[in-house]
Amino acid sequence: MERAISIRSLSCSSAVCNRFFFRSGHRLTRSSSYSSSSVPHKQNRLLSNVSRRSARRHHWRFISSSPSSFHVKRPFSSLSPRAIATSPKISPDIGGSQDDAAEKFGFEKISEQVIEECKSKAVLYKHKKTGAEVMSVSNDDENKVFGIVFRTPPKDSTGIPHILEHSVLCGSRKYPLKEPFVELLKGSLHTFLNAFTYPDRTCYPVASTNTKDFYNLVDVYLDAVFFPKCVEDLQTFQQEGWHYELNNPSEDISFKGVVFNEMKGVYSQPDNILGRAAQQALFPDNTYGVDSGGDPQVIPKLTFEEFKDFHRKYYNPSNARIWFYGDDDPRERLRILSEYLDLFDASSTSNESKVELQSLFSEPIRIVEKYPAGEGGDLKKEHMVCLNWLLSDKPLDLETELTLGFLDHLMLGTPASPLRRILLESGLGEAIVGGGVADELLQPQFSIGLKGVSDDDIQKVEELVMGTLKNLAEEGFDPEAVEASMNTIEFSLRENNTGSFPRGLSLMLRSIGKWIYDMDPFEPLKYEKPLMSLKARIAEEGSKAVFSPLIQKFILNNPHCVTVEMQPDPEKDSRDEAAEREILEKVKASMTEEDLAELARSTQELRLKQETPDPPEALRSVPSLSLLDIPKKPVLVPTEVGDINGVTVLQHDLFTNDVLYTEIVFNMSSLKQELLPLVPLFCQSLLEMGTKDLDFVQLNQLIGRKTGGISVYPFTSSIRGKEDPCSHIIVRGKAMAGCTGDLFNLVNCILQDVQFTDQQRFKQFVSQSKARLENRVRGSGHGIAAARMDAKLNAAGWVAEQMGGISYLEFLRALEEKVDQDWAGISSSLEEIRKSLLSRKGCLINMTADGKNLANSEKFVSKFLDLLPSSSTVETSSWNARLAPANEAIVIPTQVNYVGKAANIYETGYQLKGSAYVISKYISNTWLWDRVRVSGGAYGGFCDFDTHSGVFSYLSYRDPNLLKTLDVYDGTANFLRELEMEGDTLTKAIIGTIGDVDAYQLPDAKGYSSLLRFLLGVKEEERQKRREEILSTSANDFKEFANAIEAVKDKGVVVAVASPDDVAAANEERPNFLQVKKAL
Ligand SMILES: [Zn+2]
Repeated sequence: MERAISIRSLSCSSAVCNRFFFRSGHRLTRSSSYSSSSVPHKQNRLLSNVSRRSARRHHWRFISSSPSSFHVKRPFSSLSPRAIATSPKISPDIGGSQDDAAEKFGFEKISEQVIEECKSKAVLYKHKKTGAEVMSVSNDDENKVFGIVFRTPPKDSTGIPHILEHSVLCGSRKYPLKEPFVELLKGSLHTFLNAFTYPDRTCYPVASTNTKDFYNLVDVYLDAVFFPKCVEDLQTFQQEGWHYELNNPSEDISFKGVVFNEMKGVYSQPDNILGRAAQQALFPDNTYGVDSGGDPQVIPKLTFEEFKDFHRKYYNPSNARIWFYGDDDPRERLRILSEYLDLFDASSTSNESKVELQSLFSEPIRIVEKYPAGEGGDLKKEHMVCLNWLLSDKPLDLETELTLGFLDHLMLGTPASPLRRILLESGLGEAIVGGGVADELLQPQFSIGLKGVSDDDIQKVEELVMGTLKNLAEEGFDPEAVEASMNTIEFSLRENNTGSFPRGLSLMLRSIGKWIYDMDPFEPLKYEKPLMSLKARIAEEGSKAVFSPLIQKFILNNPHCVTVEMQPDPEKDSRDEAAEREILEKVKASMTEEDLAELARSTQELRLKQETPDPPEALRSVPSLSLLDIPKKPVLVPTEVGDINGVTVLQHDLFTNDVLYTEIVFNMSSLKQELLPLVPLFCQSLLEMGTKDLDFVQLNQLIGRKTGGISVYPFTSSIRGKEDPCSHIIVRGKAMAGCTGDLFNLVNCILQDVQFTDQQRFKQFVSQSKARLENRVRGSGHGIAAARMDAKLNAAGWVAEQMGGISYLEFLRALEEKVDQDWAGISSSLEEIRKSLLSRKGCLINMTADGKNLANSEKFVSKFLDLLPSSSTVETSSWNARLAPANEAIVIPTQVNYVGKAANIYETGYQLKGSAYVISKYISNTWLWDRVRVSGGAYGGFCDFDTHSGVFSYLSYRDPNLLKTLDVYDGTANFLRELEMEGDTLTKAIIGTIGDVDAYQLPDAKGYSSLLRFLLGVKEEERQKRREEILSTSANDFKEFANAIEAVKDKGVVVAVASPDDVAAANEERPNFLQVKKAL
């Protein structure tokens, strides 16, 4: 399901979702779009720290308010580690050792290992009665993780596993309310809470740093998967899966359902269509040949009986793998599990759920798919082509997998990697498609291709891919490139920086990737030995001897290759819609008057049920902490503000395992307004253009060899109480402490020595950025709408939209032509940006490491600063620009919309109080969730309050409606006024908000959050004050807030990213309501 997590950058299932979700925030950090350099472009099982990307195939739950999305936006957040006073509560009857506990609770120990790589002891148990397997990992990580995973291979594309994943979280035996999942979102301190559907398995993970909270989450999830209400409740199936909706017998019937609409969104995105087509063609004979997420044309074939059977068959302990990780008592884990597992008998389904191997083809095949395109633009140039291989007829051993991952990084991992570079430099396409090596399924695959290809160049692309792979096999790789990849991979394995993703979850996904196929679950956690042996082989035999045979065997001589060509089809959407209408008309024609009356009645009944709140006693069944469990003070990030050569330096003394993290910040406010849209490309040029002495390939290799990565991106935000925005360019880098000097030298080199002279490369940057942004418009239209509304409401929003919204897209389109006509002009503009930025004045340095490494770094910082010019040559510009405040529709080819409405509530006199966080989270999780998602059928609906600018916005995600959703938004103030806030409900809302504010952060993120607070002028006293206000939020605050957000209803501006038909219908119903702008 889905739900991704970071709100605005987010988006769910499929490629996009995973891609964005571990980077945060749409306005404040833009690193996902602009960073480049040596961060691996994709990740496979072993090489990844963060969630892997090949996840185009997973469906995540859409979560509107999660810590990861907010921690940068809420500068008062107090950050962990949380010192909450709940020690693990061991039931008094658990005495003795872990082994005694296993015996007592019915488990047999299969194996026990110490995993040096993650400083853990891991024990694998089997539950004697049912055969359920449990991995119990103990270490000192306070961010505890639990997950239960079932093997759920589907036989068709009705989306059963996905719909079931949504539905089991809609009430269970012990927790008989509509959505316990949402109650947990509202009222727990979770650091992770979600569920995902893979092509062959379904995962339910939770995480928390608070032991009591953690076990509450575990209990709700265990009850949900084993005893869900949905298997007796047709209405849940209808709501989450599909149903016919008929409001009135005289109207048309339509299809509704959360998964149904979610998947319509997925099927509107060309990259997803491509990934799905490739997977299905690569695996025609096993379960991967169908779509576990559900094909919207097939979903309505699913019956409730089949749905119930699927649960009965696969959701039992014999087919489960269970993971525990962290610093809690391992005996308590077994006790909790035994309470559930003992209720079941062994079943034989784990044999039936095994995934069959796909045998290899003897001949390559080729398929052509259509994707929905807009009518504008040159369709001839919008083809895509991708070559895909199934690499092996059986799973690979770990060392081969690691070597393939390494090869993948060498070929595609950085902008300097040869396969990536040669494809992009060919000018045959705009951007890369296909994710390289993917090893999450039973057998590994490799995919590579281009989008934005002209129809007569398709064959040239195929030849270029094959030719380049052949050359790489014959000639091998540059030794410096091999060293750079090795360093990057080792750095990332040892740093183990999983961002906002719990480390224990990252390890669980790695382990499950093998365990789910009955292979050794320990092995994927132990990279040290295979990595050392790979290094030794490269040193002895040379890299060519290691990699060339792999390219030969797995790719060049492998006939199991599927070439997918994607053609733009401007009529596809209307054809699909007409087909759907025809089906629905037939359904209606076949119904008697009584049938229709009955359908209208059941539609009404479902809606009534959805809109009726849970009874208080049901709500109370979901366990929650009390306010006494919550610390009264925000946790301090140690911050020392000093001065080196007249420049402010912030230092955070934190244990970072010998890594130094730094941010070097330059003030952008002296930049001329017309140069703003060039800034993202300026940042990319710094990393990817090369200097006088080093071409960009050498520069990238040097960054890879000496550092853990460098990225450069703009940062913009409003500052509360100020007219002028805060706008900076941030250079972010990390290195082992011994390489700090190299890191600062390299930063100096990219800032001062890079030459803006390579016209062809710059042109590629423009095309890639354009392709990436077009993808965002389709997949994350809510982010585009939000940026557009901000641009109408404040200067910071305007700046950000110039560098990342529809205005930026228009700029890029014009720039593509201008590069050919006036390169000299562009080149000198880039130089001008550099001149106005680079100055000791307005520079700020932020560093996070332990005290000794911080002290050692000072001399390098001082030298770096000496080399900067002492003042900038340009005066401060003032860009108080806004977009016209008209309501707007951004029209794109899509079957689902993104609808936004926003206003600045500070302008109405509202004064910020901490309660605003509690209330806006509450609105998202109740009113908007119920009306926009549950009864409206959208995949997500939420609101967001930017406390810096005062902009309060509503947004929906993959929404079948437009005006109806706006009506829901407009009803929010009344909802608040009529709300009867029960004491328990209020407490949960407060605790959930604290959970967001105290979002778990690794040390680099703590240092970074502290930097942002400094830039935005948020002081410790203010954090304390907001926290107190959150903790003392009262029912009356909700009523007061209703008055503030009344302004959004009355004066708010609307931006919808929507289909042409829905926009036309809206303008027909409310003449001239939306100004129409065509984006794709
Ligand atoms: Zn979903």
